[in-house]
Amino acid sequence: MREIDLTAAELERYDRQIGPGVLTHDGQQRLKAATVLVTRAGGMGGPAALMLTMGGVGRVIIAHGGVLISPDLNRQVLGAEDVLGKPRAPEFAACLRSMNRFAEIEAIDHEPDDAEALQLARRCDVVLSCPPTFEERLRLNRAAVAAGIPLIDAAQWGLGGTLCVFRPGETACLQCLYPEPPPFEEDFPVVGAISAALGSLAALEAIKIVSGCGQVLWGKMLNYDGYRAGVSIIQLTRRPDCPCCAGSPALQGGLNSRTL
Ligand SMILES: [Zn+2]
Repeated sequence: MREIDLTAAELERYDRQIGPGVLTHDGQQRLKAATVLVTRAGGMGGPAALMLTMGGVGRVIIAHGGVLISPDLNRQVLGAEDVLGKPRAPEFAACLRSMNRFAEIEAIDHEPDDAEALQLARRCDVVLSCPPTFEERLRLNRAAVAAGIPLIDAAQWGLGGTLCVFRPGETACLQCLYPEPPPFEEDFPVVGAISAALGSLAALEAIKIVSGCGQVLWGKMLNYDGYRAGVSIIQLTRRPDCPCCAGSPALQGGLNSRTL
């Protein structure tokens, strides 16, 4: 376990988020001790990783392959014009490091396969799933269920999107919703403002889960219809014959006891 005592400089940095109605001192320490995986680190994952890093998560792991391209720039907050054509993961990691010297940032320059996703999930306390494809989202879901850690799934389209928070063994999982990957639309439309909103909300759920602050969106889907300015929250039902989570054991001892 890493040293989790907060230094005076950290307490000063996080002063505005420690107190009544926000985090406790112990909650901030738990954030420092935590490891969170964010994949990918694009329109949603970028702001999510940014808020986790700035909020005091001790280790943030980002995974994202390829190089930054011009159509990314309507929603990418971790890389600007000068990063065009450069590998995303190391550039994004450098941006995150510049935002908080107390955070450890790991960068993976590709999308993890099944084995690597599971390996990563076993090192983490929470997984944030922000990829565009259902194949990747379901892969991260399988990894989180197998590792017994919470999964936060964010998805976007156009001016809207969804946010789901899953707890293995207790709530539905992503594959309870999507037994098979639905058809995927390449280059779907999306406005960066909704990407950032969903990424920030995903980060907020992770911060709440790790720190113990507030009520978590466990087992529910938040749906924001930005086009019509409507919000709904629905309870998700666990599928008894789910190919992923049927029979999965309950979460052992709450969050990952290796670091908390
Ligand atoms: Zn399931």
